[in-house]
Amino acid sequence: MRYFMHNKELSPKLEKRIKDYFRKIRKLELEVKFLNKNYYGIIDVESFRWLSNFDCFNCLTNCCVQFPYEFNKKAREVILENLKEYDSLTKAISIMKEEGMTEKEIKSSIENDAMLIPKEFENSVFDRCTCSSVYIDKSLCAIHKICIDKGMSLGEIIDTKPLWCSLYPLELIIEEENLYIFVPTSGNNYLSMNDCDFPCMNIEKAKSPYFRRENPIGFQLDEYKPFIENYYNVLSYIFGEKFCNSILESLNIKINKDIDEQYIKKK
Ligand code: SF4
Ligand code: SF4
Repeated sequence: MRYFMHNKELSPKLEKRIKDYFRKIRKLELEVKFLNKNYYGIIDVESFRWLSNFDCFNCLTNCCVQFPYEFNKKAREVILENLKEYDSLTKAISIMKEEGMTEKEIKSSIENDAMLIPKEFENSVFDRCTCSSVYIDKSLCAIHKICIDKGMSLGEIIDTKPLWCSLYPLELIIEEENLYIFVPTSGNNYLSMNDCDFPCMNIEKAKSPYFRRENPIGFQLDEYKPFIENYYNVLSYIFGEKFCNSILESLNIKINKDIDEQYIKKK
């Protein structure tokens, strides 16, 4: 067994816990097409009912505390075509200049280096994803913001950002042709590499006076919705509508399928 998006082997102990967990729960099993390959999907369907509120534009938590696993060609092109905006959001160009790099070396690094910066800067100069930024008083993904500002569609944004970031926090575990899929919740989070202890995935956090004082706007309690509702359009684009509709049918819930505001250009 391997964490698909992190490409990390599981220990035998964790494998056993995952198998035991999936043996006990109600599953939805169906063919799943992912990255042009068919898998036998084994889905922790109830986890898709988990209440969530991806109020990223009002969020003060910088959740991008690590480097994603890859940047594709489109992401690199978007950054190179919008260097000024990228720098004003992230300061990455200015920082590389201060480290003595020339404009040509910086562009070549964005084009070729795994994390858009020279490898030796990953832990010393930048300690988190180079694209994570603070815009006014909000934590944002610079690639996502640039794509939205350019008026790109949800599909174009997903095809540009690292796929892990679009799928996050959904967890995928692969074992030969089997793909185990679950939303990290308090009931199964110990099986996941992705953390769900953020306000978007933890309504109790949003209720706490301490959190409300630090985040006076956003994360309204009545805006928490089942995960499948928040991710319907993203997951439909990645796995197909049949995947999402099967989950909805199995959960017997009706949802609003409007595109999430995170993927719509602000007026
Ligand atoms: S913690 Fe959640 S709501 Fe906040 S930016 Fe990250 S994904 Fe968005
Ligand atoms: S690419 Fe964007 S969403 Fe992904 S880790 Fe970096 S800042 Fe976060």
